[in-house]
Amino acid sequence: MNNTEQQALFIIFGGTGDLAQRKLYPSLFNLYKRGYLKNHFAVIGTARRPWTDEHYHEVIKESIADLSDDEEKANDFASHFYYQSHNVNDTNHYVTLRDLADKLDEKYGLCGNRLYYLAMSPRFFGTICEHLKTQEIITKNGYNRVVVEKPFGHDYESAKALDDEIGSVFPERDVFRIDHYLGKEMVQNILAVRFGNSMFNAMWNNRYISNIQITLSEALGVEERAGYYETSGALRDMVQNHILQIVTLLTMNAPVSYSAEDISREKINALKSLKVYNADEVKKNFVRGQYGSDAGLKAYRDEDQVASDSMTETFVAGKLAVENMDFAGVPIYIRTGKRMKEKATRIDVVFKQMPVVVFKDSCLKSDVLTINVDPEPGISIQLNTKKVGQNFDTESIDIGYSLSDEQKAEMPEAYERLILNALRGETMNFARWDELSYSWKFLDSIRKAWDDEDLSVDAFPNYACKTMGPKASDELLEKDGNHWEF
Ligand code: NAD
Repeated sequence: MNNTEQQALFIIFGGTGDLAQRKLYPSLFNLYKRGYLKNHFAVIGTARRPWTDEHYHEVIKESIADLSDDEEKANDFASHFYYQSHNVNDTNHYVTLRDLADKLDEKYGLCGNRLYYLAMSPRFFGTICEHLKTQEIITKNGYNRVVVEKPFGHDYESAKALDDEIGSVFPERDVFRIDHYLGKEMVQNILAVRFGNSMFNAMWNNRYISNIQITLSEALGVEERAGYYETSGALRDMVQNHILQIVTLLTMNAPVSYSAEDISREKINALKSLKVYNADEVKKNFVRGQYGSDAGLKAYRDEDQVASDSMTETFVAGKLAVENMDFAGVPIYIRTGKRMKEKATRIDVVFKQMPVVVFKDSCLKSDVLTINVDPEPGISIQLNTKKVGQNFDTESIDIGYSLSDEQKAEMPEAYERLILNALRGETMNFARWDELSYSWKFLDSIRKAWDDEDLSVDAFPNYACKTMGPKASDELLEKDGNHWEF
């Protein structure tokens, strides 16, 4: 075994599901192709359907078809997969699962290392964890780590109850709560840009930054997730997790070292500094929206499984206040929604205008640092320079860096990176419970203010498909003399 090869048994609960097929199996295959998984790994997929191992192998090969033109490699990879039909509520099934797990441990030399991936509804997490313990699937000789998917609760109370259930079996260091945005290359790059450059480090505060803008826009509607989305909405689906994690990385103080513990401490401090709004402040600082129909595209209320008078928000914009020394007074504008103009994840850090304009009649623009997370990872800086020519005029230019094709090919997909992190026991790119508890408390205040507000059914829809959301989202910035850069 070489240094990079990992040895572990994966037990994937929800092995027939969409997440497993679209994300987990391709990610495992990429880890296999890159040599992180070789001979010493096995996967047990469990779910309700009565599949055979042979059928499971076909499903695995189908899910990695785009990633491989080497049939032998694909076959060899699939041969590490075992299927067990399983109802999570049936204790007997855990006995069979343990026997299979122990057999595979011996066959592949896995030293008792187990990674339990809960790729199914969170309402089953408690039952599964409890059975893993009582039926002694958890080993004594290796590591036992649990990976859980979002949504992690629907408010603080439910998140706490879920965490208590998981925590009664797994210690915090072995709980890996997935927020796949933390696995994205350019999200990870935020810390490199901030703490790797004295230029930005020196300017990363309220003396120089005018405002920060974060946009996570989606072009698609709710598609087949409408049933879930009706109970979630954009606030819970995108703001509580992905957006707040990005806010945290942008506003935290420098960690003492690049270690999970030191980074998490600073992230928690940043979240603690986030102003929790009262109802009036929510009204002033948050905008919600819902998409209407447009040129052949259905309105949200016309989607399957959506009530015709649904008040679920498919768009949120907000102005956040991080009340620490460096960020007091810097508005953090956030925005996310469905059926927007394009799919993009982008961060704009807008620096203050020069206090004095030396050049007469010049209209200097703000310097802007843009971090493009998706779809084209890259970084650009907008600067003022002299316009070429005899006269002294200024113009704004963009200096850009984008990933080459080779870099993109090398760039691991978010799930691939996070699975490897979990195998290595690296907790840095996962949401810790303390982080979640602060983010839920922040979110609950907004949700409560909205739920208590008697919003007329005619308030929605309030934005057309293929736009950047309702007018009120632009007005939120205009009130402060700002505008969305994107
Ligand atoms: P899915 O409905 O496609 O799959 C659910 C899986 O759970 C299936 O394998 C099903 O057989 C299994 N299952 C359900 N009830 C069972 C029971 N009683 N006993 C045994 N197995 C049972 O769902 P999904 O889209 O794969 O999502 C799984 C989880 O991941 C959900 O919590 C979801 O919110 C989360 N998630 C999914 C995505 C995604 O892209 N699909 C993204 C982020 C988070």
